[in-house]
Amino acid sequence: MERIFRIAVDGPSGAGKSTIAKNVAKKLGIDYIDTGAMYRAIGYKMKTEGVSPEDPEAVARMLDATEIDFSDGNIYLDGEIVNEEIRTPEMSTMASVCSKIPAVREKLVDIQRAMGQRKSVIMDGRDIGTNVLKDAEYKIYLTASAEERARRRFLELQEKGETQTYEEVLEDIRQRDHSDMTRELNPLRKADDAIELDSTKMDIDEVVEKILEIVG
Ligand code: C5P
Repeated sequence: MERIFRIAVDGPSGAGKSTIAKNVAKKLGIDYIDTGAMYRAIGYKMKTEGVSPEDPEAVARMLDATEIDFSDGNIYLDGEIVNEEIRTPEMSTMASVCSKIPAVREKLVDIQRAMGQRKSVIMDGRDIGTNVLKDAEYKIYLTASAEERARRRFLELQEKGETQTYEEVLEDIRQRDHSDMTRELNPLRKADDAIELDSTKMDIDEVVEKILEIVG
């Protein structure tokens, strides 16, 4: 029987998790699951439907009527692909806000766990190695300095024609780090059994190679 294994990749915003995980998935012929995209999609729905994060009943009603899926590199919200809509600075903030809501985490973690049961996957996020796939065969904690992460994100945003300055992007990264690391529920932290990789001075291919070596 084919061996099923899971690779958990966690780390702060902008460390390169999704690009690297996508590349590793391709090389190994396994599925890539972007859990951040799921939080972003919920944030996007909250925004477009005007649901307040401070209104637990409205959030619960919305969640009951929400279908989220991630497959073949696409994020589906209620059957529609919303890849573009969720990649704005506003949706980064919305994702961070809604990721603190217990009912949101519960729903998404259940979906993510189910995805990690059936087949080999590489899943990236903040709480994959510590919570979602605690028993993953491989765990990577990917970091980079805040300045380097801001520089990469700034270049990406410029390419898309967004007008944020480098200083604004750096401030945003610092705030998200703080929020992700200090939230009560499943905060971002390195799992005790995760291997830490610092990508500040490594390019994407080097990190991908390192992970392939680890997975063997
Ligand atoms: O990875 P990405 O930047 O797309 O994630 C957006 C936000 O979603 C993060 O800042 C974090 O607050 C939240 N998130 C989370 N748990 C995950 C993945 C993302 O709380 N597993």
